[in-house]
Amino acid sequence: MERTFSIIKPDAVRAGHIGPILEMIEGAGLQLVATRMLHMTQGEAEGFYAVHRERPFFADLVKFMTSGPCLVSVLEGDDAIARYRALMGATNPDEADAGTIRKRFASNIEQNAVHGSDAPETAREEIAYFFRATEIVSR
Ligand code: ATP
Ligand code: MG
Repeated sequence: MERTFSIIKPDAVRAGHIGPILEMIEGAGLQLVATRMLHMTQGEAEGFYAVHRERPFFADLVKFMTSGPCLVSVLEGDDAIARYRALMGATNPDEADAGTIRKRFASNIEQNAVHGSDAPETAREEIAYFFRATEIVSR
C-alpha cells in the first residue's frame, strides 16, 4: 500500500471538474484518504514548487496556483504514485495519452488540471506539507 499527494489545480476547480476528476481517480482504484479545499498563499505555492524556483515559468506557475481554490488530497493504493502519474498523463496535454485526466481537462502545459507526486520521498514531503497525520484516514 502506497500513498501519493494530489492537487486538482485552480483551472480545473474553476471549470467545475472536481467531480469527474475524482470519478476517474476512484474508477482507477485509488482511494481518497484525505481531502480539503485550499486557496494557496504565495508562500505556500513558492514552497511547494521550490524545486522549480530557477525555471523561467516559476513566477507564472505561482500566480496560477494562487489564482483560486484547489482540492488537495491524499490517495492510497498499491503502486499509487506511478498509477496516479499514469492516470494524469503527460505534463503537456498535447502529449498526453487518450483517457488521461490531462488529455480531458488540461488547457496547456501550465494550466494542466492536476498535480501528482513523482516519487516516494516527494510524496511523503508533499503530504506532510499540507496534512497532519491525524487528518489521513486509511480505509
Ligand atoms: P506536477 O508537478 O504539477 O504534477 P509535472 O510533474 O507533470 O507536474 P513538472 O515538471 O513538475 O511537471 O512541472 C510542475 C508544473 O509546472 C507543471 O505541472 C505545470 O503546471 C508547470 N510547468 C511545467 N513546465 C512548464 C512550462 N514549460 N511552462 C509553463 N508551466 C510549466
Ligand atoms: Mg512535478
